[in-house]
Amino acid sequence: MARIDVNHIRHSYLTNPKEDSDFALKEVHHTFEDGGAYALLGPSGCGKTTLLNIISGLLHPSHGQLLFNGRNVTNLSTQERNIAQVFQFPVIYDTMTVYDNLAFPLRNRRVPEADVDRKVRETLDMIDLASMANRKARRLTADQKQKISLGRGLVRSDVNAILFDEPLTVIDPHMKWVLRSQLKQLHRRFGYTMVYVTHDQTEALTFADRVVVMYDGEIVQIGTPAELFERPRHTFVGYFIGSPGMNVLPVALEGRTALLGSQRIELPGAPKAEAGLVELGIRPEYVRLGREGMAVSVSKVEDVGRHKVVRANLEGKEIAAVIGEDDEVPAEPRVRFDPAGINIYADSWRVEMGA
Ligand code: ADP
Ligand code: MG
Repeated sequence: MARIDVNHIRHSYLTNPKEDSDFALKEVHHTFEDGGAYALLGPSGCGKTTLLNIISGLLHPSHGQLLFNGRNVTNLSTQERNIAQVFQFPVIYDTMTVYDNLAFPLRNRRVPEADVDRKVRETLDMIDLASMANRKARRLTADQKQKISLGRGLVRSDVNAILFDEPLTVIDPHMKWVLRSQLKQLHRRFGYTMVYVTHDQTEALTFADRVVVMYDGEIVQIGTPAELFERPRHTFVGYFIGSPGMNVLPVALEGRTALLGSQRIELPGAPKAEAGLVELGIRPEYVRLGREGMAVSVSKVEDVGRHKVVRANLEGKEIAAVIGEDDEVPAEPRVRFDPAGINIYADSWRVEMGA
């Protein structure tokens, strides 16, 4: 397994890129620690696959360097990098049996046949296809084929890293959960360096110790699920993570007070926001609905099972609040913002609050 340093990597698919918007990756500078379980999370088109393919060597970056354990591998082939990659859609040999599909990457590297057999059987159990070992792969369903692809990624124990690019897209929801738990277990058992690409926050937050959030060709935040929830560094992280996402309201600042229309909101400190667009971010979980605070008009209450989501209008802005499943909306509803959940943003980036 390896530590992977992505050093000031930029990538454009154009032959003659000129401006920032010509780059699919604007500038990514990050270290994936040896043995870490990472998720790369972001919306479609933000550059996740581009970054993954640069790590595996399918793509050569326009600028920057890639290091494995300190060694420059930027110009090495995929083979030489010794990486396993699992793609969104199955990559398997249709005419081979399930068993031979899994054995192939090992036989290719001249692993003794007894070890091949042991590893293949272990992997078959893991992906729950032991009973189909001797079937031709072409006779399998799409999700069984994808499990073979996953198995081919997991069967080798000598790889520098295992990369997954939205591997569960074609898998049914229950199996998704099972496979994700197995990947996590594998990570715990063998300490592989794993990078898991997804646009699905649930997948990212349940799989990874560290989530790398990407937006428009850049990394906007790297953190634990709790950090991303409590302290989104960028308003995009606030919107993208959480359900519903963070409320973001334009405010003016006056020392330790934020002015929202005619309302004055006390802040936990004095934000160090100089110029630019200033916004207050608060997650629906920190908006307290009751008989005290700022008057709102409620437009909708959605029952989502374990809690309710209340949609309301505050000073002309739509906000969401989360209340308990047994809580009722009062006749003259008001809201308070729990100071612990308040973040202040200047031009979309979070600013620190002084004393
Ligand atoms: P993601 O995996 O996050 O959906 P991608 O890395 O596939 O994003 O794409 C990032 C950007 O690069 C997108 O704007 C996409 O249109 C562009 N792009 C991806 N692959 C190619 C390609 N082969 N040629 C040209 N542009 C591409
Ligand atoms: Mg992609």
